[in-house]
Amino acid sequence: MPYSPEQLEKHQAAMTRGDEVPVTLRMHEGQTSEGTIRIQRLSPEERGKRARKWLITFLVLAPVTVVCPPHFPWPILMTLIAIGGYFLRRGRHELVLGGEAKCPKCGAFQVLEGGNAEFPMAHFCTECGERSLVAPAQEVAAVSAKSA
Ligand SMILES: [Zn+2]
Repeated sequence: MPYSPEQLEKHQAAMTRGDEVPVTLRMHEGQTSEGTIRIQRLSPEERGKRARKWLITFLVLAPVTVVCPPHFPWPILMTLIAIGGYFLRRGRHELVLGGEAKCPKCGAFQVLEGGNAEFPMAHFCTECGERSLVAPAQEVAAVSAKSA
């Protein structure tokens, strides 16, 4: 399944922001390929802003959710999600904006999804459907440098 012009345009825009980080795609069978992702490092102000936005959104929604059956647990649950998410977001220093790579199996050009900078990230090839794990190449390099 090739990418649509809209998807590629969005991808190109993401690739101009943040810092470039080399990644390795590794398949279960051991094949690897190279790629790059763009990482945005968040300043303490940006982290606080993102965290507060989350907290306020869920606290505003919490009293409203009481109308849905079974009524009672929702506002409490939403408040817990608000507080939990707040601390989670405050502690998050990096965001993946997007990336590109080649499939280790079929070699097709792949656009990598953005999201939280938690590695390894799973990626499914749009051409052959094979799953690979995406992790920063430097982590692998750091391990080999340590043992050398
Ligand atoms: Zn593939």
